[in-house]
Amino acid sequence: MHAPSPLLAHSPQATSPGAASAPMPFGERADVGVSFEFFPPRDAAVESQLWSAVGRLKSLRPAFMSVTYGAGGSTREGTHRIVTRIQNEIGVAVAAHLTCVGSSQAQIDAVAARYWSAGIRHIVALRGDPPDGVGADYRARGGEYAHADDLVRALRRRHAFEISVAAFPEVHPQAASAQADLDALKRKVDAGATRAITQFFFDTDAFARFIERARRAGIAIPIVPGILPVTNFARACQFAAACKVRIPQWVHRRFEGTDNDPDMRRLLAAMIAAEQCRVLYAQGVRHFHFYTLNRAELSFAICRMFGMCEDAMHRAES
Ligand SMILES: Cc1cc2nc3c(=O)[nH]c(=O)nc-3n(C[C@H](O)[C@H](O)[C@H](O)COP(=O)(O)OP(=O)(O)OC[C@H]3O[C@@H](n4cnc5c(N)ncnc54)[C@H](O)[C@@H]3O)c2cc1C
Repeated sequence: MHAPSPLLAHSPQATSPGAASAPMPFGERADVGVSFEFFPPRDAAVESQLWSAVGRLKSLRPAFMSVTYGAGGSTREGTHRIVTRIQNEIGVAVAAHLTCVGSSQAQIDAVAARYWSAGIRHIVALRGDPPDGVGADYRARGGEYAHADDLVRALRRRHAFEISVAAFPEVHPQAASAQADLDALKRKVDAGATRAITQFFFDTDAFARFIERARRAGIAIPIVPGILPVTNFARACQFAAACKVRIPQWVHRRFEGTDNDPDMRRLLAAMIAAEQCRVLYAQGVRHFHFYTLNRAELSFAICRMFGMCEDAMHRAES
């Protein structure tokens, strides 16, 4: 387990100055903030699951909820509809993801302007993944924003959005090197990003080393770890392989032999993510971003382990 370095202890997430110097026992977390990520559902059944998850997680008073965007604009309308409903009807601050791959600058500018007119003030600005098989050879076509930093710059020029960007503790799979990837993150910050949210990971030491390198490179914005509570381990392994995220042996061992035991898998998933959050908290992290996969249960349970409670108003309503 990673002992927090002095650098980490004094530069946790820049969200809660000094918080790391007097850690409270785990389970008494008045100083933890969370955010929850959802994706636009493809059909009515998943849509009802989404709104039930949003309703439940709202009660934990998250800093914000965010909604993903299909690269190339495939979920443009769905993302817009869910983002505006979360803000206007659910009453939670919301961030709209926006990817620039495969769309013209004019199309992207129009999507951003529509969000601004609808009162949305937070964008997660991303390049997105190019079509299958393009990978590292991807080159933007003329008239497109080539990289996320170009998108951040364009958003910043036109609107006063809060802008979050992606970061990769274990290096983005298409990056020329770890240093090149860190330089890319620095460019996004210099272009105006105010928060980075990481790719999911299980190796908390890798995250700690990444934070140290980022701070040394002069990246001072909060870097919020993305936490993936694993509901389907086989699928998580496939996804991790594609993203070059390492799943440590101990995680493999925990899930071994549980293929036909979904209850056990859920329990293990909650324990693994809670343990990960506990270590990150000790490293100075005070904001956690949950990849909910449109399900509340595991993220909710982990937040309860932080000592977060449903607000009284919500309990009275339900
Ligand atoms: C928190 C989070 C949310 C996400 N949400 C979505 C979503 O809603 N929809 C979706 O489709 N995908 C999403 N993704 C996935 C993301 O779009 C992909 O990982 C994508 O491949 C990289 O996006 P980026 O914004 O990091 O791109 P960039 O920052 O542009 O980096 C992409 C690659 O290019 C390299 N690079 C950057 N600048 C340069 C340069 N000038 N010259 C050469 N190389 C360069 C980087 O090192 C990296 O390898 C998300 C990822 C994260 C971590």
